[in-house]
Amino acid sequence: MTDGHGLDHEVVIVGAGFGGMGAGIEFRRQGVDSIAILEREDDLGGTWHVNHYPGLAVDIASVTYSYSFAPNPHWSRLFAPGAELKAYAEHIADTYDLRRSMEFGVTVERAEWDDHGGHWTVHTADGARRTCRYLVTATGFLSQPHTPDFPGMDSFAGEIIHTTDWPDGHDFAGRRVAVIGTGATAVQLIPELARSARSLTVFQRTPIWVVPKVDFPIPSAVQRLFERVPLTQKAARAVNTSMLEALMVFGVLHFRQAKPGNRLAALLSKAHLRLSVRDAGTRAALTPHYDFGCKRPTFSNDYFRVFNRPTVALETGSIARVEPDGLVTADGTRVAVDTLVLATGFNLWDVNFPAFTIIGRGGRDLGAWWRAGRFQAYQGITVPRFPNFLTLNSPYSYSGLSYFTTIEGQMKHIARLFGELRRRGVDRFEVTEEANDRFLQRATRNLQSSVFYAGDCSGSRSYYFNQHGEATLLRPDATLTTLREQARFPLSDYAYS
Ligand code: NAP
Repeated sequence: MTDGHGLDHEVVIVGAGFGGMGAGIEFRRQGVDSIAILEREDDLGGTWHVNHYPGLAVDIASVTYSYSFAPNPHWSRLFAPGAELKAYAEHIADTYDLRRSMEFGVTVERAEWDDHGGHWTVHTADGARRTCRYLVTATGFLSQPHTPDFPGMDSFAGEIIHTTDWPDGHDFAGRRVAVIGTGATAVQLIPELARSARSLTVFQRTPIWVVPKVDFPIPSAVQRLFERVPLTQKAARAVNTSMLEALMVFGVLHFRQAKPGNRLAALLSKAHLRLSVRDAGTRAALTPHYDFGCKRPTFSNDYFRVFNRPTVALETGSIARVEPDGLVTADGTRVAVDTLVLATGFNLWDVNFPAFTIIGRGGRDLGAWWRAGRFQAYQGITVPRFPNFLTLNSPYSYSGLSYFTTIEGQMKHIARLFGELRRRGVDRFEVTEEANDRFLQRATRNLQSSVFYAGDCSGSRSYYFNQHGEATLLRPDATLTTLREQARFPLSDYAYS
């Protein structure tokens, strides 16, 4: 089947998570029906399909962590468990009739722009290739698991489990478990493992700021109210989003101007730690020595308390090697382990930007170009010399704290751009070098006030920073600014043909 112009598809979207589905919904709204959504996993939902470790839940309240145009009145809690997000993704795919465009188990390895033909050729791992007019990457920020390669890892006689590859129903009773990592995933998982493991050792390299999570079941009366009077859920969303925005804008992006707000958040976390952990030495070890917001902070009521249990130990020595039955730290401490859990996160900057080889006009290799120069993308979505290409998970694209803010801004961008293509009766766009430079310069300037540059992030090892030491993940704009610009960017920022 072709799109009517001899191409296999009008649009290929890579990734069937919330980003890819948002793009699919927008293209359908624009009247494009020839869409293929290619997904390497065996089902839709992106991160919410891949991750199903115990304790998984959203850490942005569900009224905000969802599409504004598709509210779900049935969230069971303020912070819904992961399975509800997966179910919501399925509901969205059905509601917007996206499933018929989806192909699972298809891994894209390479895409090349054909300037003469005005199309992309997409190569997949099965050796097949397909052509499309427009290419959209929606491959996620946190989708390439990071597995550290400690000396001796191969010799480990027990089980090694990465949190993205969780064996459902696995019984940890009687096991001597080690968890490596103390990021958001570990903070959710550790209290669950501590319940059943015979012993649990948490290997922490960098402590994380943890603030209390004000979470509760949403009463059925409120769910009914949300269902019958959608305006009430909209209001709840607006209040929650504003609170997150205040935290993000004043605590992180305008750190220079609003230091007291940032300090207050750090004090809240320290008070939480003080009230939760009895042992002063453990408290000291769990206290971060970088500014709040350098790393994505996390929310939990039970993470800190776990360290009061006699069966749980915090180990801050660096891991020197793995032996068949345990881990050895640099100072020679030996910890007996039979189950090793890697809560070691994701590799963003080496392998994920972009997630596969993308060759644009004149043979420009996107990944090589980003790495050799600076990571950049106009409005966090398009790149010069990459015609008809939209990159949803790109430098400076992440706006606000809820990923849905980013997605919906990008949907607005697509709507404006494709509206203009239709108006002109053309089918090719490319952002100008000048517009891209302007956006990059502004982002660079705005970031100078952020905690990343005006604060102390030196010991944070934050994935917000790329390998050049630049904080190029977050868009340094207020959410409303982002949404306004995505809907009203100057049309002259693109060349059309
Ligand atoms: P992460 O924040 O990158 O944390 C990885 C952890 O592994 C860090 O503590 C890191 O230590 C440690 N680590 C990595 N390599 C190591 C090594 N060689 N030796 C020792 N320690 C090592 O990853 P994550 O916890 O999976 O979370 C990633 C992001 O996913 C979060 O920031 C959040 O945005 C998102 N997330 C969201 C939710 C939610 O909404 N419910 C839940 C989970 C995750 P260093 O800090 O020293 O590098």
